[in-house]
Amino acid sequence: MSEMTIDWRAEVEKRKEELIATTQQFLRIKSVMDFSTAREGAPFGEDVNNALQFALGVCRDAGMEIKDVDGYAGHAEFGTGKELIGVLSHVDVVPEGDGWSTPPYAAEIVGDRIVARGAIDDKGPGMAAIFAAKIVKELGLPLSKRVRLIFGTDEETLWRCMKYYFEREEMPTMGFTPDADFPLIYAEKGLTHLVWRQTKEAFAKQGLAHKQQIDARLIELKAGLRMNMVPDRAQAVLEPVGKTAEQLVAIYRDYLQQQGKTGNAAVEGSRVTLSMEGVSVHGMDPAKGVNAGTELVHFLKELSLDERAEQFASFTDTYLHEQHYGEALGIAQDDQEMGPLTLNTGVISYEAEGDIAFDINIRYPHSTTFEEWQPIVLKRLEEAAFALEIEEVQVPHRVDPKHPLVTTLQRVYTEQTGEEAGIMAIGGASYGRALDVGVAFGPLFPGRPDCAHQRDEYILIKDLLKATAIYAQAIYELAK
Ligand SMILES: [Zn+2]
Repeated sequence: MSEMTIDWRAEVEKRKEELIATTQQFLRIKSVMDFSTAREGAPFGEDVNNALQFALGVCRDAGMEIKDVDGYAGHAEFGTGKELIGVLSHVDVVPEGDGWSTPPYAAEIVGDRIVARGAIDDKGPGMAAIFAAKIVKELGLPLSKRVRLIFGTDEETLWRCMKYYFEREEMPTMGFTPDADFPLIYAEKGLTHLVWRQTKEAFAKQGLAHKQQIDARLIELKAGLRMNMVPDRAQAVLEPVGKTAEQLVAIYRDYLQQQGKTGNAAVEGSRVTLSMEGVSVHGMDPAKGVNAGTELVHFLKELSLDERAEQFASFTDTYLHEQHYGEALGIAQDDQEMGPLTLNTGVISYEAEGDIAFDINIRYPHSTTFEEWQPIVLKRLEEAAFALEIEEVQVPHRVDPKHPLVTTLQRVYTEQTGEEAGIMAIGGASYGRALDVGVAFGPLFPGRPDCAHQRDEYILIKDLLKATAIYAQAIYELAK
């Protein structure tokens, strides 16, 4: 069969009923991580393992060679040749949560869609990739490379699946993951989780002069839950000294009113509790939110506080308040291609009798390196007696836009949809970065709302079919 005559959509159409039914079966396995049923060979529990075995079973029945890598991941392979094309999807899902209109694991067809946890993230697209491979295989098209469908089991938490798998198995020459957006994501920023910590001892060592005249002592301040979210709530506890509790409450209420901020102040026993509300957004784009934590500290600058609180307030206000791009720290970096370095202050914890700690999420484009900006941050921290703890560093991930992986997938997308395939750089992390040379390719088409991780998650049946045809041609074009 000459490739010019392949009608990929027609090939999908022939298998439509089987594809839909098999996707529904796959979605009916509640593949939420459950350590209570974990065992050797099923490290994330029986349910996740059942989903892995189901996917591998469909591939085996289609004549592919399958391998279960100790339940951490598995793969199905066909074709011949030295080079290996990888297609990476995951079988685990996030917990379903409440409020569904149909049972989350019934995988019912409601109108034009299949509704289920995992429908779009990532079992629907995973099944599209399996059927795409089946089509290429069943057409008996000659391939000069091997194709490997790889199934992860722990994408939704810590990616232990991929760590385990790639310590033991071959890294594909190149590949894609159907676990994000069409047309194509070719670049992702570097990601870091840093903790900036000042102990009571480190503060004392500086020997700052003791302040005599103060309004209040800062006892405690808490804001935020996670490094990768903008805090929408913050609370501070003050102990009145030179001003009365009632005066402090009045000053704060005036401030809120004048600044148009939302918060509250209350006297509790001998102390005053101040709260501030912000707007939570994902930490990859902190400028779109309002950080309740740094907003509250910004107010504290108005008061005369004990020396540790004053240093904390001045440090926070200078380097973190409305410093979404690390400008004052001196690490701002704009990149034509990947966008700016971003800084999110995800968690603030101040304890007068303990540590001060910030959980910071810095994401950076490939025009700088961690080694380049980290010493600049460290210097600023040391000036204020903070230590730097590095919780996580992931380097930027990028495939050259001229790489045949990118250009081939762009061409396939355009041929199948008739639309231009613009390529995207993002601040988040897709499963594509688990591959050395990997991009994210679908499954969400431009303009479709993202329903991943939400109630009533769904995949439109027409999009499932369309994605399958795109993946079939993509697999063939990459492996031919
Ligand atoms: Zn996913």
